[in-house]
Amino acid sequence: SVPLAFFGGVGGASRCGILVKGSNYLEALASVDTVIFDKTGTLTTGTFSVTDVHSLKLDRDQFLELAAYAESYSDHPISLSIKEAFGKPIDKSRVSDAEEISGKGVKSIIDGKAIYAGNSKLMRSLGIDEFPETESATLVHLADEKEYLGYISISDTIKKDAAAAIQGLKDAGVRSAVMLTGDRLAVAQKVADTINLDAFHAELLPGDKVELAEEIIETKKAKGNVIFVGDGINDAPVLARADIGVAMGGLGSEAAIEAADIVIMDDQPSKLSVVIKIARKTLTIAK
Ligand code: ADP
Ligand code: MG
Repeated sequence: SVPLAFFGGVGGASRCGILVKGSNYLEALASVDTVIFDKTGTLTTGTFSVTDVHSLKLDRDQFLELAAYAESYSDHPISLSIKEAFGKPIDKSRVSDAEEISGKGVKSIIDGKAIYAGNSKLMRSLGIDEFPETESATLVHLADEKEYLGYISISDTIKKDAAAAIQGLKDAGVRSAVMLTGDRLAVAQKVADTINLDAFHAELLPGDKVELAEEIIETKKAKGNVIFVGDGINDAPVLARADIGVAMGGLGSEAAIEAADIVIMDDQPSKLSVVIKIARKTLTIAK
């Protein structure tokens, strides 16, 4: 039977905007060793703003239009930001096919012509090896079947409470806070330094994230549980693999909210140490 105190704990978490889907997760939370975070939408807001447009052939507006059309069917935070920057309605009848290339970008057929938008991995898969990559920003490269067209430089903002979230975990006795991301090394490095993470891994494909999480779970298991916190876009398998999967409720996909054990309704990563503290207190009362 479930001790009465657990109901109190789940209720207390709920009053703080944290949905805990079962009292067993409170027990698991009380002995957390490592927290793994996804970057985009979890530690950062996921609302990218366009900082630079570098087009080789088209003028700025035409280039932005092509990028927005290439992204027309994607729900990725990068895609939403590019469509926002374009700012005009998209005539989807011009897009006859669209394909998401997980962890790399998108391919769309626009006016009968294939257009690719995504990162360096996507460009290399097209046989394009030469493109600028100096800035420490997220770059969305654009190419057609024949050639490289240029890039849009975008940048995301670290969430206001991200540094406090990491500090809060440390104060709650969590040994290690790690970030996994598909974004560039330079971008990841900046986030890791700013919020004081213990470790990070960048330029990962969704499959790499699962592998790394598994490695962490298997080698650190003896010391305690592993939490994964994500938004469900390209990271749902990791969410399912962790001892405790936490989804951001606001930005997160419906599938992520469904798959998660715990949902942070207002997307604040600092709520994690709040719920760990509630779990510890609940356990003390229950014993
Ligand atoms: P993360 O959440 O760790 O940033 P994702 O796996 O969602 O990683 O994406 C990894 C990388 O793949 C992004 O940083 C971006 O370079 C590229 N990417 C993914 N989806 C898109 C998209 N719709 N348009 C352009 N690039 C994309
Ligand atoms: Mg993601």
